[in-house]
Amino acid sequence: MLESVLLVVGTLLGLVGMEVFGWFIHKYLMHGPLWFIHRTHHRPSGKGPEWNDLFSLLFGGMGMGFLWWGLEDRPLVLGTGVGICLYGALYFIMHDGWVHRRWRVPMRSRFPYIEAMIRAHRAHHVSLKAKPSESYGLLWFPSKFLIKKP
Ligand SMILES: [Zn+2]
Ligand SMILES: [Zn+2]
Repeated sequence: MLESVLLVVGTLLGLVGMEVFGWFIHKYLMHGPLWFIHRTHHRPSGKGPEWNDLFSLLFGGMGMGFLWWGLEDRPLVLGTGVGICLYGALYFIMHDGWVHRRWRVPMRSRFPYIEAMIRAHRAHHVSLKAKPSESYGLLWFPSKFLIKKP
């Protein structure tokens, strides 16, 4: 029983943790010293691979590391690994599919939250320079984007 609770808590930790960690890395590293890599995502050359995709390898590796470490009877760590991987899958669908259309997601939700998430991330992409920009998170964004401008 305790194991299942720890697994669920870990999964939530992984999910929420990645949004916070991702926001931090995006705002302070990608739009800071690592801009030379991240800029390939702000000026995408097409639908092919971008240098910025290297970050996905980093985050994916992190998720796999947690899973690997958690397999040895560490349900909280294992759950965190599951959460990180789930976040990665969500990111791939929402960011790469719905926002940037790098691949065709079969279903596109018209749910207001999804629409607002897309508006918020598009606003982030308005800037072609490292600073200033806004809305560095993906799932969590300023509430002003919930209101659809006519
Ligand atoms: Zn950015
Ligand atoms: Zn983007």
